[in-house]
Amino acid sequence: MAEGRRNELLMNKSLINELAEMAKDSALMHGFLVRLKESLNSSEVVTYAPITLFPTPVPKALFLQAMEVQTHYNILVDKISQDPDFLQEALASTITVDDFTARLFKIHQQVLKEGILQSIVLGLNRSDYMWEQEENGHSSVKQIEINTFSVGAGGIASRIPDVHRNILKVAGQLEESQHIIDNKPAVGLAKAVAKAWELYGSKRAVIMFLVKENEFNIVDQRIIENELWKGNIATMRKRFENVSESGKLDEDKRLFVDRQEVAVVYFRTGYMPQDYKSEKAWEARLMMECSLAVKCPDISTHLAGTKKVQQVLAKPGVLERFFPNQPQVVEQVRATFAGLYTLDMREEGDKTVAMALATPDRFVLKPQREGGGNNIYGQDICEVLGKVKSSPERMAYILMDKIQPMPTQNYLLRRGKPLKLSNCLSELGFFGVYVRQGKDLVMNDCVGYLMRTKSSEHSDSGTALGVSYFDNPLLFS
Ligand code: ADP
Ligand code: MG
Repeated sequence: MAEGRRNELLMNKSLINELAEMAKDSALMHGFLVRLKESLNSSEVVTYAPITLFPTPVPKALFLQAMEVQTHYNILVDKISQDPDFLQEALASTITVDDFTARLFKIHQQVLKEGILQSIVLGLNRSDYMWEQEENGHSSVKQIEINTFSVGAGGIASRIPDVHRNILKVAGQLEESQHIIDNKPAVGLAKAVAKAWELYGSKRAVIMFLVKENEFNIVDQRIIENELWKGNIATMRKRFENVSESGKLDEDKRLFVDRQEVAVVYFRTGYMPQDYKSEKAWEARLMMECSLAVKCPDISTHLAGTKKVQQVLAKPGVLERFFPNQPQVVEQVRATFAGLYTLDMREEGDKTVAMALATPDRFVLKPQREGGGNNIYGQDICEVLGKVKSSPERMAYILMDKIQPMPTQNYLLRRGKPLKLSNCLSELGFFGVYVRQGKDLVMNDCVGYLMRTKSSEHSDSGTALGVSYFDNPLLFS
């Protein structure tokens, strides 16, 4: 949409109010839904998922750049997961001070000691980006991080295009509405899960979604289940407690939960310390990891997605280890890296501390956590680093250049929140899937994307946190 036309639309308050009401109905019609904060374990009453009123313009070249690098990222994650020496070296400092990562690492070592039984590997990941203008005037995408565990929103993302198309049509923007492309990550995610199930080779075995009790994003998960049901594959939803109570391994290490054989454990919980409510939950994780079931992800792939590994990958020469004799691939992947800096107890780490304290607004300080709301920005960096700068505790963090995207204006629509024109920042994630059997990569695809937008008042993001809103890219050349 031409910028002038967009600005005119944004100022037409009565039309905006009409569009907002219609958008909610459209969301209901298309199953673009989330549970209510006050009843997270019930679908009796639900609401529309948070969404921007209008799609956000994205340069087509940047969209394609991120899409095209995804299959390389899939291979990268897969190769890291098969390289215990690299993981050991990369995480050595972190695990001395970060208990959660240390615990995961211990499971990794136990699995290696017992020997990996299952040669089928299933990876579902999402690489997230922002884009910014560089000094030379060129725009480029910069990776925020790659998620290898419980990547969300692949189901619900498929519902966003229709909602935005409806809004644009009612706003009289017929042509723009036709520029919103289809996006069906759930189909691709489910296809990979189904492939792993098929290779496991038992028609009676089921796919177990490991879930938490209170799930805001239930529809997102059900959309993926629905794709599996279409292929006549049975799914079940279980919690860590269920696995602790009724999970067993038979003599061949096949996993049974509630007497059902499990072909694939698809983790949709287990990435935060609070997901493990007791020692029993940790024991259940270990049992699943040691079983013959395909794990999505397995423990080594989980560790490959840590922020510390991301930082180590940005060191000179490290990508070459995983892509030997493929300088073009190395270049393509490296082009998406933002500056990443170690906080290890060496001279390099001391330099990072000094740099962060001198210009905190240029950086983000990140602990080894997932799920949003954990990162540290601006003056808070000085406060946190001030306390830990001389002790090994600083090694629990990495430092990253803050990506500075150009804001766009939009209205943000969320239950119970007033509709107001906001300065917004957007991020795009691409879903990658791969299946490997032994040495054969039988699937390696980019299956769709997720666009999220937040008000520039917020530094961190996360839809469940109440900060970000689902969105669509409106590609322009
Ligand atoms: P988490 O694993 O908790 O989701 P992320 O690294 O993905 O942590 O960061 C959460 C959010 O914080 C991102 O979605 C983004 O909005 C913001 N963010 C993270 N890293 C940066 C960065 N380097 N520059 C700007 N914003 C960032
Ligand atoms: Mg993340």
